[in-house]
Amino acid sequence: MLIPLARGISVLMPNAPKFYPYCICMYIAGEQRAVIDFGAGQKAFNEIDIKSIELGFFTHNHPDHTHSAVLFKHSSLYAAKEEEQSYQSEKDYLDLRGFEYWNLYMPGKALPEPPDATLQNPDIPVEPGFVKIDLAGTITDGQQIELGRGIRMTAIHLPGHSIGHYGFYFEKEGILFGGDIDTTRAGPWYGDGCSNVGQFINSVERIKEINPGTYASSHRRPLTENIIPSLEAYIQVLLDRENRVYDLLKQPHSIEELASYHLAFNYNMFSMEDFWEMMYAYHHVQHLMEIGAVVEVAPGIFQQA
Ligand SMILES: [Zn+2]
Repeated sequence: MLIPLARGISVLMPNAPKFYPYCICMYIAGEQRAVIDFGAGQKAFNEIDIKSIELGFFTHNHPDHTHSAVLFKHSSLYAAKEEEQSYQSEKDYLDLRGFEYWNLYMPGKALPEPPDATLQNPDIPVEPGFVKIDLAGTITDGQQIELGRGIRMTAIHLPGHSIGHYGFYFEKEGILFGGDIDTTRAGPWYGDGCSNVGQFINSVERIKEINPGTYASSHRRPLTENIIPSLEAYIQVLLDRENRVYDLLKQPHSIEELASYHLAFNYNMFSMEDFWEMMYAYHHVQHLMEIGAVVEVAPGIFQQA
């Protein structure tokens, strides 16, 4: 379903009651037609004239944002400079996702193959696993993209969720598409190798400074009110976890010991939660060390400074 936000600018809602393994995408009809993100699924994309789409942009390289890009082989596709290689090479993709940490944190356990089997679905036009995507070029922070008929958007680098996570800002209309900074109740997700807690906090601050009139994102209906409180409640989930980690580090802990407290996940939807608990604990400890609150007191053992 298309929901218009302003003249020529709409969100394309996935044709599914739950927004995962789909994402909300954007459809922009300037002189050139463009799509942002490709995780709406075949049924939803059938609502637009796929063949007329000249340009496509990825917010980041996560499978729920990329799986239907195979329908847009005729379009010129652009993604973050920071994640460029991960669209081309399976090794770079798996490193981006943090699977280089798998043997360290999940010893003796096999990496689920493919790691994102939740994407197996007749409405998703590719099989789970790495799918190579040919890019026409890359985007960088502040890049302006003119689509004609007065529609212009600016690429905004919003890292933290992933290193090359971008939003797109339509200044004239006051619309910001914030990708996976999605203000859902579950709070921020930062389980990749390239995720970063400090960057996530800064990216939410940057959105608050932009102060958009409409805030669209990937897994929640667009907001036109209570945007700042929604962003603050969302990042508070991460800050509460960070405070919990900091408190626990009154006593020395390893990453594995911190993860055993199940700081973030208490369900089993992806069969990856145990690994992501490790990654969350790792990223919180990294951030606490960056700000000087925590030190490594012995190899792999951390404690308050
Ligand atoms: Zn994502």
